[in-house]
Amino acid sequence: MIDFNDLTGNNSVITHPLNHPFLQETEVAIDVLRLDKIHTIISGNKWFKLKYYLQDVIKYRKKGIVTMGGAYSNHILAVAYACREAGVGSIGIIRGEDRQPYSPTLQDAMAYGMTVRFLDRTTYSGKTIAETLSREYAEYLFVEEGGRGPNGIKGAEEILHLYSSNKYSHIICAVGTGTMMTGLINSASPDQKVIGIPVLKLPDFHASDIFDYIGQNSTNHNYTFQTNFHFGGYAKRNPELIRFMNTFFAEHNIPTDWIYTGKLFYAAMAMVRQGFFDRGAKILIIHSGGLQGNRSLQKGLLTFHS
Ligand SMILES: *Cc1c(COP(=O)(O)O)cnc(C)c1O
Repeated sequence: MIDFNDLTGNNSVITHPLNHPFLQETEVAIDVLRLDKIHTIISGNKWFKLKYYLQDVIKYRKKGIVTMGGAYSNHILAVAYACREAGVGSIGIIRGEDRQPYSPTLQDAMAYGMTVRFLDRTTYSGKTIAETLSREYAEYLFVEEGGRGPNGIKGAEEILHLYSSNKYSHIICAVGTGTMMTGLINSASPDQKVIGIPVLKLPDFHASDIFDYIGQNSTNHNYTFQTNFHFGGYAKRNPELIRFMNTFFAEHNIPTDWIYTGKLFYAAMAMVRQGFFDRGAKILIIHSGGLQGNRSLQKGLLTFHS
């Protein structure tokens, strides 16, 4: 049986201060919460979003979790591993065709015991897919893509409790489904501002839903978005993003992933340069992990190992 406090109850969660001449000039202090370091496999925010789903699997005596994601999904890998650790099963419904060779992410997920099934993109994004899968796999607990939902939010509310976070004026995070951001908003104090960096573009798939979802599930209004840092949309990139990630690693020794945290740190640095923050601002950036996703990039593009 998995110890639910195992990953987060240890002292491996650290913050990492950024040192850069322009931070000193602007008198803006930035700490990075290194959730990428909590575990080698379930890194980042995914553990937080999954823990209450796993408790429900046990409480309702389900066989395991059935969930959805892409071929390089951090969520799919985290579900496969967490379910194995909890001694329950997992089924991953993967977007796209069943084409070999499988991605390293799917190979790992299968090695952890996940049963993988592919669905064409149209069926996958159909409105009734959640219902269909819940019915078809009634003995399993259906978990939405990315761990979205009340249990995901509840878990994400614990991120800021890891660490005395009340000294920060701003908390910045990447936004996929918005589940983590909602948890952060709910657990931040009303005088802290939570800034979300959506990694997808309006009106991308689900994008406007995200703002409604966050609005409906958050208990504070202390948040805002910076929507211009998506680099073309979800899983889109350009050479400037890759260059930034390599430079950022060279300067700070912090690896980032190109789907979420590369865009997040790019945005945060651009905002400092643009004078978005007042002098004396104390910022906490949530490094939400996801480094395994860099395996979708061609070798050599990144100058660091992640
Ligand atoms: C899944 C993920 C996110 C997005 O979290 P949401 O709760 O879906 O908004 C951000 N960063 C990383 C690294 C992720 O894997």
